[in-house]
Amino acid sequence: MIIDIHNHIWTRDYMPETWWKMYSTFFSTYIAGSEHSGTPEEIDRGLFARSFDPQGLDCLREMDEAGIDKAVITAIDGTCVLGQAPKSIEDQNRELAEMARSHPDRYIFFCSIDPRAEGSLDFVNRAVEEWGARGFKLHPNMSGLYPWHEAAYPIYQRLQALGLPVLVHTGQMFHPLDPKFSEPQELDRVLADFPDLTVIAAHLGIASWRELIQVAQNRPNLVTDFSAFQHEAHGNYGRFCSVLRRCIDGFGADRVLFGCDGPVWTLWYTRKWWVDLIRDLPERGTEKASFTPEEVDAMLFKNAERILS
Ligand SMILES: [Zn+2]
Repeated sequence: MIIDIHNHIWTRDYMPETWWKMYSTFFSTYIAGSEHSGTPEEIDRGLFARSFDPQGLDCLREMDEAGIDKAVITAIDGTCVLGQAPKSIEDQNRELAEMARSHPDRYIFFCSIDPRAEGSLDFVNRAVEEWGARGFKLHPNMSGLYPWHEAAYPIYQRLQALGLPVLVHTGQMFHPLDPKFSEPQELDRVLADFPDLTVIAAHLGIASWRELIQVAQNRPNLVTDFSAFQHEAHGNYGRFCSVLRRCIDGFGADRVLFGCDGPVWTLWYTRKWWVDLIRDLPERGTEKASFTPEEVDAMLFKNAERILS
């Protein structure tokens, strides 16, 4: 069994054009020199165009290939910072919920909306009660707010009462998305005020993984996923192993979860490649950072099963 805790499914109209422009510009620098490198225009027309998956069928095919049984799917609301997407956030959520309904054994729907949007709490209630949402996604940089913003509190309150987790992006993003919103320590107040709310801090905090460990050591309701570490694991396997080991030693393998953050990361590094790399950790690892099969099972599915149950 493998569960992927962090995925997006989108089509071009899920994001405004400003997003595609800045995202392709970022990636053209980030992966310069790799086999996928190209100009922003080439990346936009080529790889990004391949990421559009209107029915979620490409994602399912790649999950099959990788042996991934289930994946969380969610939208991102960047309206406040990037402007209105051609497709409304409500319609995006509806479409993803519909996908999860069509593939109930494979997709787990997390709803997502900027907490400052009018009626956001009603929206979350409706998403949970009518559309079967099993969690909430908050993207502080894309929405341009701190996770402790007062508008988010009624939503956390509701999620905590329902026993549903919140997935929060942590770690740097690219210009013009303000990095200050997603530093792991910004979650501390939320973790303290909602001790029974499970907060999945995404991406190990990226470059702020040391800060993430500090926060996690004080707040048992923080768990994390290591999606978006594919590039690091590919380019510097030893360093990836050592960061993952430091996190596990810092707060426990039962709080670290597998994720792909598709579709963009999975265009460069396939889901199968990522799953195989994690599965092989007990055999491969490094001299300084080794892993047990039990730790890998916990990360690949046991922790997700517990959090999603
Ligand atoms: Zn995400």
